[in-house]
Amino acid sequence: MRYQNLARWLKHSAKAVILLLSVTGCDDLATLADPNAHLPPCVEQNCDCGDFVSQDLAQLVLDEFQGDPYYLDGDGNGRACERLPQSTPALDWETYFSNNPHIALGNPSHAGQENIDNYIIDREQYVLAYSQSHGVLRWASWVLSRDWVGQTERQNDFRPDGILPKGTYQVTPGDYTNSGYDRGHMVPSADRTFSKKDNSATFLMTNIFPQTPENNRGPWKELENYCRDLLYQHNKTLYIIGGVYGQKQTIAKDRVIPPSRTWKVIIIFDGEATIDNVTYDTEVIAVDMPNGDRLDEQWQLYQTSIDRIELATGYDLLSDVPDAIQIDIEARLSDY
Ligand code: MN
Ligand code: MN
Repeated sequence: MRYQNLARWLKHSAKAVILLLSVTGCDDLATLADPNAHLPPCVEQNCDCGDFVSQDLAQLVLDEFQGDPYYLDGDGNGRACERLPQSTPALDWETYFSNNPHIALGNPSHAGQENIDNYIIDREQYVLAYSQSHGVLRWASWVLSRDWVGQTERQNDFRPDGILPKGTYQVTPGDYTNSGYDRGHMVPSADRTFSKKDNSATFLMTNIFPQTPENNRGPWKELENYCRDLLYQHNKTLYIIGGVYGQKQTIAKDRVIPPSRTWKVIIIFDGEATIDNVTYDTEVIAVDMPNGDRLDEQWQLYQTSIDRIELATGYDLLSDVPDAIQIDIEARLSDY
């Protein structure tokens, strides 16, 4: 057993103990009320083989429901989505360390500078992990506070990101033309309006992913607006991690693989968005939604737990938060 797997096992054993303790204490009903806590979020809508990062996860879903409602076992041999990698890839070794406040709560995929498919892009405005083979980011992480917003208008200067290593393909804005997808921002333009330079950084193509109009202009946008309401109307400071996973039909001559799911985790602070301010009482929003063409406008319908996003992606979110607090807030079903 590799150390990471051991660490994961220990963490989940600890979760089981804490769950037991909370059953006896009856103080964590939200966790108990999620009947699908052990399943990836797609089961709330409609799963497709493209929604899973491993055969193990697809099999978990096939075994859970009678009659294969999601058509995961086309040949009826009892094995789901056989072309997927067998198990969720282990995280890369953590080799990259940064004191950038935008990743103060952790580096979800252990992105670094060695693996071009898990490549860290560390900027003043945000931090993200990019996958060269997908032509899109894995996740981005950023603080949203008063320091980042002002009067700057939308720059709209979509352009390739020259920061990627020489010789690697740089996705261009034209790669999305006539694809049917929006050039969707992960870090929203409206979250970076203090200066032209800050706003312009959100239009680099590494921060852009092929997003369906129904997702981008629907619940995704509603949630982005809700976050800025928390900032402007309720004086909150937010730490946001947004990401994508899964695969759909390629675009741009196979250079870009649109994701099948989009997710976001929002940690809400009264004071500064720092690791010392994360407590058992810290409020968290977690959503996971299809990058599809049938979505409800209400982002609240796509709420889940951080644990379920970790299960679906194989990442370790909030990994720098003390374990006991991490376990507690990650198991909670987001409920807004
Ligand atoms: Mn958008
Ligand atoms: Mn975690």
